[in-house]
Amino acid sequence: MPSRRHFLHQAGLTTLALSLPFSDSIARALGQQEPKVLRVALMGLGSYASRVAEAMKDCSRAKLVGVISGTPSKIESWKEKYGLPAQNCYSYDNVDEIKNNKDIDAVYVITPNALHKEHTIALAKAGKHVICEKPMAINAQEGEEMIAACKAAGVQLLIGYRMHFEANTLDIIKKQRAGEFGKTLFFQGLSGFIIGDPSQWRLNRALSGGGAMMDIGVYSINGARYMLGEEPIWVTAQETKTDPIKFKEGIDETITFQMGFPSGATASCLSTYSLNYLDKFFLSGTKGFAEMQPSTGYGPIKAKTNSGPLEHTHVTHQTTQMDEMAAIILDGKQPLIPVDGEEGLKDMHIVDAIFKAVKTGQKVSIPK
Ligand code: NDP
Repeated sequence: MPSRRHFLHQAGLTTLALSLPFSDSIARALGQQEPKVLRVALMGLGSYASRVAEAMKDCSRAKLVGVISGTPSKIESWKEKYGLPAQNCYSYDNVDEIKNNKDIDAVYVITPNALHKEHTIALAKAGKHVICEKPMAINAQEGEEMIAACKAAGVQLLIGYRMHFEANTLDIIKKQRAGEFGKTLFFQGLSGFIIGDPSQWRLNRALSGGGAMMDIGVYSINGARYMLGEEPIWVTAQETKTDPIKFKEGIDETITFQMGFPSGATASCLSTYSLNYLDKFFLSGTKGFAEMQPSTGYGPIKAKTNSGPLEHTHVTHQTTQMDEMAAIILDGKQPLIPVDGEEGLKDMHIVDAIFKAVKTGQKVSIPK
C-alpha cells in the first residue's frame, strides 16, 4: 500500500502537505473544499461570554467574529483583544441592523435568563441562527415563543448544553443505552454553589426568573433526563430557606425535588445556592452504576462505573461545544443528545412543574 508520504510526493505536494494536518492536506491535494466555519457573534460580554471567547480560540469549525454589548468600553477592549472589525460590533439598540451583515452566521445569547426570549426573537427576525444559554427562558411559555420565532424565520435555535458533548458524559450515556448497567431505576443529581454578591442579577427575579433552580438546578433536571434516557411524567418538590433576606420571594435558595419516569425509575435531586462543591450525579441499575463528581462543572469531569474509572482526556467544554454546534448548524449533524429548542423546552416544563409543586405541595404531572 502506498505510504502517505509516497502519495503526497506523487501529487507533488510533499513540502506543503507535511506542514499541514493530514486531513487538511489530503483534502487540498484532492481539490476538496475545507469544512465551512461558523462565524459567531457573542451577545452579553459577561463572565461566561469571556470563557466562551477564550475557548473558541481553539475551535476549528467556529470563529468569534463579532459582539453585541450594552457596554461601549467592553466593545473597545474585545475589538482589540479578538481582532474584531468595527462593523461586526453592535449595541442592544442597533442589533436589528445585524440582518444586513453577511459576515455573521449565528449569535450566542449569553445575557441574563429573563432577556433570552427578547434577544433570541430579535436575532431570529434578523435571520441569524441562535445559540442561547441555559435556561433557555424563564418558563415554558417563553420557550415555545422562541421556538416558534426561530421556526418562522427559518433559523436554527440551539441551547448551550455543553455537557451534551463531554466525553465522560457521552460514554456513560452510551453504556446506559447499551444496557451495561441493566435496568436503570435511580438517579441522584446534586447541584449547587454558594452565591456571593447579593446585588447580582441572579438574585433579582426580574432578570433571573428564579434562584438556584434556574441557574444550577437545571443541570440535575437535564442530567436526570440524559442519564436515564427517558422523560419524567411527574415531580414533587420541597423548598427550604435559611436566608430570606438574600433569597427574596421568587428566588429559591434550596429545592429538593423528585421525578418519576414511565419505566418506574425515579430521580432525587437537590438544587441550592448555599452549599459549595455540590456537583454529583449517580445512576444506579440492576447490573451496575455510574458516578460523576464533578459532573457538570467546567472540568475535568471525574467519572467511574462499577467496572472502574473512565479515562477520557479533558477538552475545554466550550471548545468542543462550539465545534459540534457548528457541525449541527452547517452540516445538519445529529448529536447523540439533542441541543435544540425542544430540548430546552422540556427542561422548562419541568422547572414550571417544580415551582408549582413547591407552591401547592402536590405531585404535579408534566405535559408530554
Ligand atoms: P454575567 O452577569 O457575568 O454577564 C451577563 C452579561 O449580560 C453582562 O455582562 C452584560 O453584558 C449583559 N447584560 C445585558 N443586560 C443586562 C442586565 N440588565 N443586567 C446584567 N447584565 C446584562 O452573567 P453570566 O455570564 O454568568 O451568565 C449569563 C448567562 O449565561 C445566564 O443565562 C447563565 O445561566 C448562563 N451561564 C451558563 C453557563 C454554562 O456553563 N453553560 C455558565 C455561566 C452562565 P454587556 O455589558 O456586554 O451588555
